[in-house]
Amino acid sequence: METEAYIGIGSNLGDRELNLLRGVAEIGKLPLSRVTGLSPFYETSPVGVTDQPAFYNAVLSLATALTPPELLSGLQRIENEVFNRTREHRWGPRNIDLDLLLYGSEVIDSEELTIPHPRMAERRFVLQPLCVLAPGLIHPVLGRSMVELLAMLSSVETVVEI
Ligand code: ADP
Ligand code: MG
Repeated sequence: METEAYIGIGSNLGDRELNLLRGVAEIGKLPLSRVTGLSPFYETSPVGVTDQPAFYNAVLSLATALTPPELLSGLQRIENEVFNRTREHRWGPRNIDLDLLLYGSEVIDSEELTIPHPRMAERRFVLQPLCVLAPGLIHPVLGRSMVELLAMLSSVETVVEI
């Protein structure tokens, strides 16, 4: 059985656009999975640690028969082996960041994996592309659509389609 999952992709090191494209291609090669949608690419001012280059961000949808832990480990393998991801500290610059945002309407809270992604509802750079792909999709914990969640945001970060 296939489930629709949503994955956030970000990069703020190296050739950011190429990194997003490569990330999409690698996710498309995961077993039992096919990419069903891809948002536009956005340039986003960094949040949290603001003293770092701007991010490129996108979200894709994936029809997959992988379980959530299998999908997460596939994403981590891409981060580590394909992109050789290195970084000094959490939330610092990175050439690729793959976040499992949603997996159908499943709610998971384990040590390694939290779904929906715990910070997705406060991130404009996640909600704006999700609103392009699936505006009416309901957040399974908050019970609100992506459009409603985006409208509730008060953050000042700028997210510009490129
Ligand atoms: P961040 O993306 O918050 O900057 P990391 O990519 O380093 O930081 O976070 C990776 C860690 O977050 C991993 O150890 C992973 O187990 C955990 N994690 C928990 N839930 C998720 C999720 N939904 N998507 C991606 N990683 C997750
Ligand atoms: Mg991450």
